Amino acid sequence: MQVVETVAQVVAACREARRPLGLVPTMGALHEGHLSLVRRARLENATVAASVFVNPAQFGPREDLAAYPRDLQRDLDLLRAEGTDLVFAPPLEEVYPPGFDTYVEPGEVAINLEGAHRPGHFRGVATVVTKLFAILRPDRAYFGQKDGQQVAVVRRLNADLDLGVEVVVCPTVRESDGLAMSSRNVYLNPEERRAATVLYRALCRARDLYQQGERDAARLRRAMEEVLRQEPLARTDYVSIADPDTIQELERVEGPAMASLAVRIGRTRLIDNFLLGRDLS
Ligand code: AMP
Repeated sequence: MQVVETVAQVVAACREARRPLGLVPTMGALHEGHLSLVRRARLENATVAASVFVNPAQFGPREDLAAYPRDLQRDLDLLRAEGTDLVFAPPLEEVYPPGFDTYVEPGEVAINLEGAHRPGHFRGVATVVTKLFAILRPDRAYFGQKDGQQVAVVRRLNADLDLGVEVVVCPTVRESDGLAMSSRNVYLNPEERRAATVLYRALCRARDLYQQGERDAARLRRAMEEVLRQEPLARTDYVSIADPDTIQELERVEGPAMASLAVRIGRTRLIDNFLLGRDLS
């Protein structure tokens, strides 16, 4: 496994690499969710590249950038064990050198949900993803459904800017009690960790009602809120039943929908979602 820190090195490595090349962008602190993306990429590509970069542009001023867990040595061991060929782990100045002054601004798809609660977040995501696509020129890039609105933003920007990458979306990997794996789960104390299952329970409630035939989006949202209200440690940022491609709220669920929510448990903000009426493929 080759580990490189500079843009020049990774460009050179990708020019030489056997194709197709699959890219797994990450912020490190890797867990089984990330590794499921690497495994899928390994199955489908001659070369597997991963990036490990905690992107300051996608953190708000009051967010957890400084505290975000970092352990590059452990990440590299995990990536090596999955058969990764190339890791791009750049320092900050390599991605945002002095004088950097161009950002990618997503449109309507980035306005609601995470976009509303984390101003500038998707501008940071879109900018770094565009840069990674330009630097590595991957044939495929792998993202987790866990970050459902991010999937919509990346698909939109890949199409709108004609980046020509095949965007592959992988299912959310969960703990045995349903909690979606996240690098931020390490912030939870034992009591909060127990409370955090409320996100999964709320989504299950919405899915159950949907499967019983409920198509009124407001009723599905209310059902999720009801479950969340029963958990005293939970503070809800939003619950949503939206179109999974446009991220616009629905009145009725006639086609595919994404049930999603963001909940603060103590000082930790968690997000999760289920797709209704659509399978990942
Ligand atoms: P992050 O390091 O949080 O930026 O995540 C890197 C990639 O891993 C993103 O595409 C995430 O959606 C994906 N990911 C994070 N957690 C999970 C999970 N529990 N299951 C599947 N994919 C995940």
